[in-house]
Amino acid sequence: MDVEGIYKEANALLEGHFILSSGNHSNRYLQSAKVLEEPKRAAILADALAEMIKKSDIEIDTVCAPALGGILAGYELARALEVRSIFVERKDGSMELRRGFEVSKGEKVLICEDIITTGGSAMEAAKIINELGAEVVAFASLANRGFCKREGVDITPKKECKLPQDIPFFALEDFTFEMYTPDECPMCKTGSKAIKPGSRS
Ligand code: ZN
Repeated sequence: MDVEGIYKEANALLEGHFILSSGNHSNRYLQSAKVLEEPKRAAILADALAEMIKKSDIEIDTVCAPALGGILAGYELARALEVRSIFVERKDGSMELRRGFEVSKGEKVLICEDIITTGGSAMEAAKIINELGAEVVAFASLANRGFCKREGVDITPKKECKLPQDIPFFALEDFTFEMYTPDECPMCKTGSKAIKPGSRS
């Protein structure tokens, strides 16, 4: 499946001159929510991710997503896996399981994001699930920014990756962008001005 093509078609993979959340500059930017704007497209991606997970024979009872970014991907993946879908959300700075959602002792939970960069939010979600007595058995995201190692790809995870090495991480595609500090950015040197697409309404 041409995952990058699907992202481009959805205007979810932008090309230009961007400021990433890290402050670094890049000529590419993933606007993850855009790829899920079209429910049919979201279903195609989630079905493909579910197939990868099913092939691994890992048993999953529930998909849990960190709000807000992970909710749609998590829901779609849960539909494709025919399991329950829940989400954790940030309240007063820390992630919580609210709205009557519960997990039971020993329940096998997959943490799902739309995109994994360093995996920080996914790990916060995993911590709560584990504290509640359930077991995090896998991580998944549609897109991987290339810091973490996904199943089936033989790379060494970068030091920024927060996901544990002993739990599988499934993703459809690596999106590894060239990044520059503002001082070293070749696009800035040509006089181009970087924009921050994430903050534009
Ligand atoms: Zn720049």
